[in-house]
Parts: sequence; C-alpha cells; structure tokens
Amino acid sequence: MAMKAPRGTADVLPKDANLWRFVESTAAETARAFGYEEIRTPVFEHTELFQRGVGDTTDVVQKEMYTFNDKGDRSITLRPEGTASAARAYIEHAMHALPQPVKLYYCGACYRYEKPQAGRLREFHQFGIEAYGSEDPALDAEIIAVASTIFKNLGCTGLTLNINSIGCPECRKKYNEALISYLSSHSETLCETCNTRLTKNPMRVLDCKSPICKEIAAGAPHILDYICDDCRDHFEAVKSYLTVMGIPFSIDPTIVRGLDYYTRTVFEFVSTQIGAQGTVCGGGRYDGLLEELGGNPTPGMGFAMGIERIILVLRSMGLVKEEKNSPRLFVASIGQTAAALALCQKLRENGIYAMCDVAGRSLKAQMKNADREGAAYSLVLGEDEVKSGEAQLKNMETGEKETVSLSDIPALIARL
Ligand code: ATP
Ligand code: MG
Repeated sequence: MAMKAPRGTADVLPKDANLWRFVESTAAETARAFGYEEIRTPVFEHTELFQRGVGDTTDVVQKEMYTFNDKGDRSITLRPEGTASAARAYIEHAMHALPQPVKLYYCGACYRYEKPQAGRLREFHQFGIEAYGSEDPALDAEIIAVASTIFKNLGCTGLTLNINSIGCPECRKKYNEALISYLSSHSETLCETCNTRLTKNPMRVLDCKSPICKEIAAGAPHILDYICDDCRDHFEAVKSYLTVMGIPFSIDPTIVRGLDYYTRTVFEFVSTQIGAQGTVCGGGRYDGLLEELGGNPTPGMGFAMGIERIILVLRSMGLVKEEKNSPRLFVASIGQTAAALALCQKLRENGIYAMCDVAGRSLKAQMKNADREGAAYSLVLGEDEVKSGEAQLKNMETGEKETVSLSDIPALIARL
C-alpha cells in the first residue's frame, strides 16, 4: 500500500512554499518593528503544562490534545498552542529579571485532534506574540495593532476586528452567578460537556461549538454589563488607543475565547471569505496565567494567528501569484561539467542563483532546460572556452551575445 500523510496534516509543496515564507516573514518583520523578539520552544511539553495553562475545562484539553507516554513513562503532549510554552519559558529563564514588558514572538506547528475540514487541521501552524509584565491598556492596544499591521502588510483586507472585555476574577464572580442561573434553566437542552462546565467554568459554555448550546449562549447575559469600574476603565482606554491608531473595531459581547486563562481584553480577527472557520487570529490578556504556572504574579497578553487560514484568505482575494525562482545564469557545458560546477559555485558563494546540468543532458536538452527554468543569461562551456578563459554570454530575453572573460562573470552577473 502506498503511504499517505496522516489525516489532518498537509504537505506544503514548493509551489506554495513561497506564499508561506511571505506570510511568516511578513509577520515576523512586523512584530520586530514593534520590538518583539523571537522565541522557539519545544514541540512537546509535559502534559501538565497545558492542563494547567490552557485549562481543564477547555475543548483543547478535554478533547483535542495529542497526549502519549514516552519510553520513560512521562506524559507528554504535542503543543496545541504556543502561549503556555512561552509562559513556561518566561518563568524557567527568569525573564522577570529583564526590563518589562518582555515581548516575544513565535511561529511553528501546533497539534490538535480535531475533525479535519477547510481551515481546520490536526497539524496546523500559528504565528503568535506574547508580552509579559504590563497591565497597561496601551499594551493591549499595541498587541492588537501588531495583528492589524501584519494583516495590512500582507495585503489582507476585509477582516473584522471584534473586541470584548471578560473582566477580572472579581467581576466574573457576579457574572458567573447570573450566567449559572440563566444556563441552569436550560440544562436539559445543553450538551453533556456543557452540563459539567456549568458548575466548573460556566463561561466555557458560551464557547461551545454545538448548535443547540450556541443558541442558548446567544440569549445569555453579557459580561460587559457586569464588569467592575477598573475593568471598564481599562477597556475604555484600549478602545480609545485603538481609535487614535486608526484601527477600526466592533464590540462583540459574546467573545469569550477558547482558552481558560484570559482576563479583560479579548479579541478576534474574522474573515467572511473562507467559510465556517473564519477566525484567523485570536488573542487576549491573561493576567492569571503565569501565577497559575508557578511564576510570580505577572500580567500578560498575546495573540495567535492561524497561518493556513491566512493563506486561505489571501487565496480567496485572488492576489496570490506563483513566483518561480529562476536562475540568473545557466552554465551549459559540453563535456566540461567540472568547469561548469566550479563557475556556478563562485556565483552561488556571492548569493547569485546559478544553474548547470547535473543530469548528464545533451547540449540541446541543457538549453531547453535553461529556457524552461527562465534563466536570465546563459553561456556554453566547451573545451575552447575553458582553454581561452572566455565565453559568449547570452541574454536569454534579447538573444544578444557578448564575449566575456570567465573570471569576470561573477562580478558581471551581479551588476547586470
Ligand atoms: P476555533 O474556534 O476555530 O477552533 P480556537 O479558538 O480553538 O479556534 P485558538 O486556540 O485561539 O483557536 O488559536 C488561534 C488561531 O489558530 C485560530 O484563530 C485559528 O486561526 C488557528 N487555529 C486553531 N485551531 C486550528 C486548527 N485546528 N487548524 C487550523 N488553524 C487553527
Ligand atoms: Mg478550537
């Protein structure tokens, strides 16, 4: 039987990899322009990190984690997201001793056992940022601005930014009472999972994907009507900073986000162009997370965006053209493979894409290949050229030829 990649995974083929590199490098460079620095963490962590960090009552921990025992009988989980790992690294490397806020970005694969469909995979990729050590609403606004600027720099238009505040543990006490009393009156129709959430973490019910629970959630009381004065002032400041930065947003009182650690500001960027999985970026403040993971009480905030979904948006906009990486110089040869390899090597050491035949082709086939690859210039090395140290450099577009010294070629091609 021929082998196939596991369900829910996807190969990125060379024709698509340019677009991936564009998205990843634009995201990274934009984050760097805001002072964020890269962090790389392991693809697997102790299971407990996610149980505590993401939260026991979330879909991610209850249903979606790739968890297994390794040969040393430790429970290991493939990271389902990046926030818990970055927070673990902040604590482990005592980053509280650095000037705050510490601002980090990451990009990499995440794993969730989900039902694969358009925009939902089991191995997917996230670009995310995290900032630790500031509660100031200016940080919230800056983080939302990073995401917004990434989309702008990618040329992604038509996304909606929805924001909400889910308050602090204090205001949530009052809200949870109201929510529990509302949800209890529907407990017979809520799904089984939501019935357990109802007492443990009622806000999770608002994020359930089941259509019936969604309908019930739509009628639930709104947290914005319950948040305390401090949380309200914080939220007002975030909104006014976004406004002065020229970042349009809508208030969506139903956003609670899928992870347990969020407090105060939460937000999503949503596309209507890519079907049901339209959330391309989600984030928020998580002032309780670091303490939960055994660190000093440290506020934090971040977001993660799904690269696959961003690529779907870019494709849906029809802006994506396939770019071919064409050689600047094609060195054809007649029995002079060594000289061709040596000449190409000089160009490549100068960062210039040069190509020669490595498949034993005839001269005619080599020239056909030079055309197919879209080479800008070509030349032919035979015995005479190698002896004289000169060859005819051909401009493949105009057909013009000129005699050039082989030793001048690297500098010449760099100039042309
Ligand atoms: P959803 O509601 O779509 O399941 P989520 O709330 O679980 O999303 P987060 O944990 O906030 O998502 O992850 C941040 C981003 O990562 C999402 O907005 C989305 O773009 C992307 N993402 C999440 N899960 C997947 C997946 N299984 N496949 C592809 N992208 C995903
Ligand atoms: Mg999810």
